[in-house]
Amino acid sequence: MGADGSYKYVVIGGGNAAGYAAWEFVKQGVGKNEVCIVSREEVAPYERPALSKAFLFKDVRLPGFHTCVGGGGERQQPEWYAEHGIDLMLNTEVAKANLTAGTKTIETKDGKSISAENVILATGASPIFLTKLDGADLNGIFYLRENADALKLAEALKANAGKTVVVVGGGYIGMEVGAAAQLMGLKVKLVFPEEHVMPRLFTPALAQYYEKFYQSKGIELLKNGRLCSAFLPDAENKGVRGILVCKDDTKEEISADMVVVGVGARPNTQLVGDQLEMENGGVKVDGNMQSSVPGVYAVGDIASFGVKQFAGKRTRMEHVEHARQSAAQAVKAAMGKSDAEYDYLPFFYSRVFDLSWVFYGDNVGECVVGGSGAPQIFAVWLEGGKVMGAFAESAADDEVKRLKAAAKGFPKAVDEAKLTQLLADKSTPL
Ligand code: FAD
Repeated sequence: MGADGSYKYVVIGGGNAAGYAAWEFVKQGVGKNEVCIVSREEVAPYERPALSKAFLFKDVRLPGFHTCVGGGGERQQPEWYAEHGIDLMLNTEVAKANLTAGTKTIETKDGKSISAENVILATGASPIFLTKLDGADLNGIFYLRENADALKLAEALKANAGKTVVVVGGGYIGMEVGAAAQLMGLKVKLVFPEEHVMPRLFTPALAQYYEKFYQSKGIELLKNGRLCSAFLPDAENKGVRGILVCKDDTKEEISADMVVVGVGARPNTQLVGDQLEMENGGVKVDGNMQSSVPGVYAVGDIASFGVKQFAGKRTRMEHVEHARQSAAQAVKAAMGKSDAEYDYLPFFYSRVFDLSWVFYGDNVGECVVGGSGAPQIFAVWLEGGKVMGAFAESAADDEVKRLKAAAKGFPKAVDEAKLTQLLADKSTPL
């Protein structure tokens, strides 16, 4: 940093992408005191997916999962940043960013002013809060995004062992928190309006497998049009005693001792929405993660980018692997070392109970499901005679590796023999 608070590179946000950006800066030989990371969280960047998994039911805590342990790198604790000459400003929220083609200026909530030649926006997303519902301010309602949220949630789940939790939302947060809560001894009711769990990825056939599994663990699924429409107050009007659910014209009270809401997330673009070209609710970037303003990059959950292997189809992805890779791409570009455009293979995964699934590609077209179901399942999405996406549950590491290698070529023509073999049992990913 210069005496005037100026840096060559400033990363706004200190989450998953920021941690991998730091790693890439170091790999590319950035100079000491050229990089600053400004984060409103109180802890150094960490692997966010841990928060809804072993953090809850196995008490895994920081520093165990700081970036970049999930991607094969070092566990970067604050000392690591200091050693490499990267300034890590924790507990510091950026209140304003003036992003012009020349020098950019950043103002923090606590009155600091920082200038930068290049800015990497890595502000991630925030949960959708159901603030407009009656009872939204009651105690006992939890959301999950950051380490601080997870600490509070874990404590509440422990305190409510043997009691009931309603989890609102049937996506991956709802499914993972629901599984963790069951493992922690709570009775779980999963409430969501869609016809089945993971509606944005799973087909009904795939979802059925997981729903049966959840039901076998005693988890109640309250779905099909059931919308959480209010939080119910206890006798003292302080704590929550359940939720009110509307389905068509009927209203149903679902009792619980605590509520967890996981109904999606919105990208944190408030700082920049009126200064940069936006797309898909995020910041529009090119193949180097550069926004419409030169020297301003966006990575991770807030970036809207073109997926090269899907003919440039533009999208935003809230997946950890994209956060990691897009951060590396932006750093290389900002340092003038990028030799190719971003070429991300869409990948998503989740782990619940002893199950673990991976997905590569795009879930468009017809989905064909196969596998033994005990517990292996494979599925492929086919469109116009081509494989667009592939899914595997409980695949062995080498099978996942082969699937990943094959997925890199999607879309590609179906090899009927391999497809039959894959769907019949396992082995030979496409
Ligand atoms: P984040 O990691 O969210 O980091 C954003 C950071 O910016 C945060 O530290 C935030 O506090 C900070 N920030 C925001 N605004 C400001 C500001 N104005 N000033 C300063 N700092 C600011 N993905 C998967 O692929 N698989 C999974 O199993 C999986 N599980 C998940 C489980 C949970 C509980 C959550 C919440 C997400 C999960 N994800 C998963 C998604 C994945 O974690 C995200 O895609 C990834 O974290 C995105 O990285 P990011 O750096 O863009 O955002």
